[in-house]
Amino acid sequence: MAPSPTSRPVLLLLIVFVLLGAVGYRSLTSTSSAADSGPVGDGELPDGTSVYDDEHSGIAELDPDLLRALRRAARAAVDDDVDLVVNSGWRSRAYQQRLLDEAVATYGSRAEAARWVSTPDNSPHVSGDAVDVGPARAAAWLGTYGDRYGLCRTYDNEPWHFELRPAAVDEGCPRRYPDPTYDPRNR
Ligand SMILES: [Zn+2]
Repeated sequence: MAPSPTSRPVLLLLIVFVLLGAVGYRSLTSTSSAADSGPVGDGELPDGTSVYDDEHSGIAELDPDLLRALRRAARAAVDDDVDLVVNSGWRSRAYQQRLLDEAVATYGSRAEAARWVSTPDNSPHVSGDAVDVGPARAAAWLGTYGDRYGLCRTYDNEPWHFELRPAAVDEGCPRRYPDPTYDPRNR
C-alpha cells in the first residue's frame, strides 16, 4: 500500500533523521576506536617503556629501520643481562617545544639549553630518527655494541642518545659531535 500524500514529508524527515543519526554515531565510534587502537600520546613515554611498547606513539612513530635495529640490539642486550628501556623516542613538535621551554628555564638561557635540547624544526626526535635509552648501564652497553646494529651515539654529552647509521655495521660509528650545537643540522 502506497503512503498517503500527507505522510510523505514525515517519512522523508524520518529517513533524514535516521541517516544523520547513523553518520553521527559512526563518527563518534570511529573517533573513540581510533583513540583505543592507535598509538597514543605526543611522544611522552612512561617509565620503563620497552622497545616493543608500540601502543605509545613515542615508539610507534619511530623510523621503522631504527626501531628494527633497536629491537635487535635490545634482544642481544638481554643475553648480557642488560634490560634496555626507551626514555624518549619520537616526539610531537609540541612536546619538543615543551622540553625546550623547560630546558631554557632550567639552564637559564637559550644558548645553554641548545646544548641539550633542539628546536622542533631540528630535533631528530621529531622526525622519528632518534632514541634516548636507559638506564645508564644499557646506554653504556649500546655505546659499546651499538655499531653492530647500526646504532650510534651522536653527541659526547648525551651518552643515552642514539641514531641509525647503517654504515656503522661495516665502518664503525662516525665521529661524535661534542654537543648538539656542533651538529650541522642545528645550524
Ligand atoms: Zn635524544
